[in-house]
Amino acid sequence: MAGTRSLLLLPGDGIGPEVMRQVRRYIDWMARKRGIEFTVEEGLVGGAAIDAQGVPLTDATLEKAKAADAVLFGAVGGPKWDGLGFDMRPEAGLLRLRKELDLFANLRPAKVFDALVDASSLKPDIVRGLDVMIVRELTGGIYFGEPRGIEDLGNGQRRGVNTQVYTTAEIHRVARIAFELARKRGNKVCSVEKGNVMESGLLWRQEVTALHRAEYGDVELSHMLADACSMQLVRNPGQFDVIVTDNLFGDMLSDEAAMLTGSIGMLPSASLGAPDADGRRRALYEPVHGSAPDIAGRDMANPIAMLLSLGMALRWSFDLHAEADMLEQAVQNVLRTGMRTSDIMQPGMARCSTSVMADTILRELDK
Ligand code: ATP
Ligand code: MG
Repeated sequence: MAGTRSLLLLPGDGIGPEVMRQVRRYIDWMARKRGIEFTVEEGLVGGAAIDAQGVPLTDATLEKAKAADAVLFGAVGGPKWDGLGFDMRPEAGLLRLRKELDLFANLRPAKVFDALVDASSLKPDIVRGLDVMIVRELTGGIYFGEPRGIEDLGNGQRRGVNTQVYTTAEIHRVARIAFELARKRGNKVCSVEKGNVMESGLLWRQEVTALHRAEYGDVELSHMLADACSMQLVRNPGQFDVIVTDNLFGDMLSDEAAMLTGSIGMLPSASLGAPDADGRRRALYEPVHGSAPDIAGRDMANPIAMLLSLGMALRWSFDLHAEADMLEQAVQNVLRTGMRTSDIMQPGMARCSTSVMADTILRELDK
């Protein structure tokens, strides 16, 4: 229906429901104070779905995810469900969602909030003001390429095989997302591969260059080898705006970039699919952290990664940039007052719970 905005919330397990509860409060706040309404549905995924419905994701929930403008996902898994078969693990629910929604681009911002520069693994001078977006190809490359497997060579030797494969279409669709993101940010894309030793990397560089020349000449494009990029990320991360890379290198570089920011409890992510006939992209937003069974049920989790995941949804699925900015600003202001959940605790700061952190952010929004 035109004019309505729909969200499917999938809280999942562990701290997932605890941080998702705080997201609902911001959604309510937007309706109350900004007149921005969402149609919100909620579903089960992961261990919660296994317990109640027998599978980590039902077909009915999957259909709701396909129908929604955006899915907000908490986290899945925990010791209770360890040891189940491959397709019956809580994580299989998320993998099925990614596959069925064809979410081929994973966006991981690494942003350093001023108040937390000392929490970084690097010196404050290097990370102050850092705001990098890593766009990782998520459905192709060496994790999925054929042939793959472990062969018995018969002489006491075995051979393990994986194959890196990329096509023009796969490279273009993820590069397109990177160029479009760059236009809304610092207008710079760095494309990362190992074209000096890998054919798929060479194709990657050629195709990104061709797409750039044809359609995105206004964006500044550079190329970097993956090993050089991993060095540059810790030497001078401020040089980057948007980095676009394949599945394997993106897996590593996005974790490396995450460590520049301090805490996993602060980091949102988005996974995007292809646009449909109306130009609407399938999208799933989730914190980078997992279900954190060690702190679940104790009102200790940092809700900021989940709240900022909603912020990304507001920006990329709903074009609600003002509301996303307000949320980020409120987080920034509350951190400046010294309020800290235990994961970002620093000497001299005030420790608070999940709910108090969210209360304070909501109060800040009312100012
Ligand atoms: P998964 O496999 O689901 O990614 P994991 O064990 O790799 O799980 P997390 O569940 O993210 O990773 O937990 C890693 C550590 O970070 C744990 O000690 C956890 O308590 C902590 N942690 C994760 N998320 C948060 C959060 N939002 N607030 C505070 N601490 C967190
Ligand atoms: Mg993990």
